[in-house]
Amino acid sequence: MLQRAEPSPTFRDLLNRPLRSMRLSVTDRCNLRCQYCMPEEEYVWLPRKEILTLEEASSLIDIFAELGVSKIRLTGGEPLIRRDLAALVKMIARNPRIEDLAITTNGLLLAESAQALYDAGLHRVTVSLDTLRPDRFTALTRKDSHAKVLDGITAAQRAGFKDVKIDSVIMRGVNDDELVDLLEFGRQRNAEVRFIEYMDVGGATHWSMEKVVSRAEMLEVLTRQYGRVEPVASAGWAPADQFVLPDGTVFGIVASTTTPFCRTCDRSRLTADGTWYLCLYAQHGIDLRAPLRAGASKAELTSLIVAGWTGRRDRGAEERQELRFRDVLVSVEGLRHDSHLEMHTRGG
Ligand code: SAM
Ligand code: SF4
Ligand code: SF4
Repeated sequence: MLQRAEPSPTFRDLLNRPLRSMRLSVTDRCNLRCQYCMPEEEYVWLPRKEILTLEEASSLIDIFAELGVSKIRLTGGEPLIRRDLAALVKMIARNPRIEDLAITTNGLLLAESAQALYDAGLHRVTVSLDTLRPDRFTALTRKDSHAKVLDGITAAQRAGFKDVKIDSVIMRGVNDDELVDLLEFGRQRNAEVRFIEYMDVGGATHWSMEKVVSRAEMLEVLTRQYGRVEPVASAGWAPADQFVLPDGTVFGIVASTTTPFCRTCDRSRLTADGTWYLCLYAQHGIDLRAPLRAGASKAELTSLIVAGWTGRRDRGAEERQELRFRDVLVSVEGLRHDSHLEMHTRGG
């Protein structure tokens, strides 16, 4: 039987963090235009010929898995618009080192793809849903398709996914009046809700600190509604802090903006064109596609990855928090110049 375990104790970054989880972006394209992620009219896309084939993506994931990565989250852009995604899921799921294979999706195409993804071996689904009001959804995403997302959640659960989660980015003056409604919806649907603080990532060109609803504020609102809200003890590596309501309902808050968790960050990101980023906020990535396509051996790719991670000292969200004046991370011109800086390219 395969011995998996703890990544080698020597394989740590400069802040002593192991490499355990990977966000794999399978496309930079998206069928929504969320205000906090893709607010512009026009975008510069990754050239199609540079997008990794399924085989290329899966072979890189195999190398990462040998180095200790056991959690993969498929993301984008919108991952469900990638053709043959189920085939990629199948390739990754057959690697016994991968213990957790999840997807984050906006849910629009989930109703038609949930069963194939479940059958292919996907473990978990997270659906991004920021509002329960169809008109608000349309204003927020520029598409009138709220009902499709709800159908997608139903279909995922019907297909067999037990652990469906709902991620909601909370923005002041946009949907901060829906905290309780979203929690109630999650409770009815038996899906854990995670509230995400609005982050000043690349692409969030309308971001400002005033629009951020902090974890402390969210807890205040929920305590007023439900009474005691208790923290749940955690393993320490997950981005969401979990809380429990008096009736046992569990929910999460991802407080990356006001309470960053870089010290325990075991995540990195691989874009659809094979650029490897050591931090969500990193300005530069490591090109794995070029050596892969030039015929680099597995040992050579492994050395490149080990050198990258062992030299890592990134703590982007903490550094952002230390700034006295905090404004958008990258200007629209900067994003046009290098679309890798976009959240929809890098994956959330
Ligand atoms: N399209 C898929 C989706 O929306 O679920 C996957 C990619 S999306 C970039 C991944 C996650 O990032 C989503 O949950 C989205 O809400 C979140 N996100 C995007 N921009 C954000 C921002 N400025 N602040 C906080 N979360 C953000
Ligand atoms: Fe919205 Fe996700 Fe698309 Fe960004 S990538 S615009 S968060 S659906
Ligand atoms: Fe990890 Fe960078 Fe996010 Fe900090 S900002 S938690 S180091 S990805």
